[in-house]
Amino acid sequence: MLKDQDRIFTNIYGMHDRSLKGAQMRGHWDGTGEILAKGKDWIIDQVKASGLRGRGGAGFPTGLKWSFMPKESDGRPAFLAINADESEPATCKDREIMRHDPHTLIEGALIAGFAMGAAAAYIYIRGEYVREKEALQRAIDECYDAGLIGKNACGSGFDYDVYLSHGAGAYICGEETALLESLEGKKGMPRMKPPFPAGAGLYGCPTTVNNVESIAVVPTILRRGADWYASFGRPNNTGVKLFAMSGHVNTPCVIEESMSISMKELIEKHGGGVRGGWKNLKAVIPGGASCPVLPAHLCEDAIMDYDGMRELKSSFGTACMIVMDQQTDIIKAIWRLAKFFKHESCGQCTPCREGTGWMMRVMDRLVRGEAEIEEIDMLFDVTKQVEGHTICALGDAAAWPIQGLIRHYREEIEDRIKARKTGRMGAMAAE
Ligand code: NAD
Ligand code: SF4
Repeated sequence: MLKDQDRIFTNIYGMHDRSLKGAQMRGHWDGTGEILAKGKDWIIDQVKASGLRGRGGAGFPTGLKWSFMPKESDGRPAFLAINADESEPATCKDREIMRHDPHTLIEGALIAGFAMGAAAAYIYIRGEYVREKEALQRAIDECYDAGLIGKNACGSGFDYDVYLSHGAGAYICGEETALLESLEGKKGMPRMKPPFPAGAGLYGCPTTVNNVESIAVVPTILRRGADWYASFGRPNNTGVKLFAMSGHVNTPCVIEESMSISMKELIEKHGGGVRGGWKNLKAVIPGGASCPVLPAHLCEDAIMDYDGMRELKSSFGTACMIVMDQQTDIIKAIWRLAKFFKHESCGQCTPCREGTGWMMRVMDRLVRGEAEIEEIDMLFDVTKQVEGHTICALGDAAAWPIQGLIRHYREEIEDRIKARKTGRMGAMAAE
């Protein structure tokens, strides 16, 4: 278990003062000017050496992403865009940072922006996060007043503004290029990549889009050293991480832990165990709604990191787990996700627009047991037609949970269809 002194987020439960004074007492904004004085290359090299990977779900190496920004200006300003549009069902970790430990994010925004030569940071926050927006704005104002950001930030000679932009409740605006479109005042629709944002991002200028947690951990990594951070987890999966647990655990929570911790330890030690005991576990969606579900027997020895989840044909995503016990109607649970993705599709590409609707309609019938057995394979085929054939990852996100369901719970789907045909559906529901 992670020791208290190794935690980066010391106020995610809101037990302490979240003002600038409180944050400084907990060690934030300590020697920030000196960190900037070490130069851009030093900062980027340290972040690379720490092994930090993007905490928004995709796990792209953070230092490498920063190094894609142009070294010399070609006359265009550069920007840092911070993705605070946390909307993946079950994902609620960035919320705790912004609500209770906002100075970690603002200090990170300054250091990251400096390292990549940005003129300003735009934090794009989810529409539903109203309290978080207020907490963050208060913290930003405090930093301006204290000279930590703005003109001559931290006495470094570097001028840097931080703007907060409030979304309007569309999940797709968390996709990085839709986020940029929305920041520009347009409808939030993903752009084709390439070009990646470092080449042409906000207003056509070089931009890096990073998740809240990825940015908020940077100051502590630089203060304690890349080696310290890399000492947690295992190669390719280093560091500490905010994990979340919701669903059928006794104490749902957000907790900072070492990467590569076992799923069972997380659930038992921090989530208070599965409702009714570990034997009552049916399945876990490991990292937000887009990650394929894992049945209980695979959860027993599951390692919570990028490689551990990939080996189990799922993904680590945001590390925010949905835990489901034996009483869960797993077909209905995945149907609910299918409905979510259909609703949130922006509709600009055919496989996603049509495919999400098609998949949801078949799932509708599977929940009621009204489909034919052959439709299970047909549904799987459709997910394969959607996966990898769309502009953004929402198409994949809609396909993967259904693939996981069919891979692991085919028998349960078939049983329901057979029960319907033999008139046993009512009896099954009562069991
Ligand atoms: P991605 O793999 O396409 O990209 C990840 C990042 O790496 C992006 O910033 C991208 O610009 C960059 N990148 C990738 N290849 C690059 C290259 N060749 N050159 C330069 N930059 C490159 O994934 P994505 O679409 O950004 O994100 C998908 C993930 O988002 C999913 O895994 C899902 O878990 C997660 N997600 C999270 C939330 C949330 O609320 N946090 C919501 C929806 C989805
Ligand atoms: Fe829009 Fe879906 Fe295409 Fe993404 S995959 S651009 S959400 S239609």
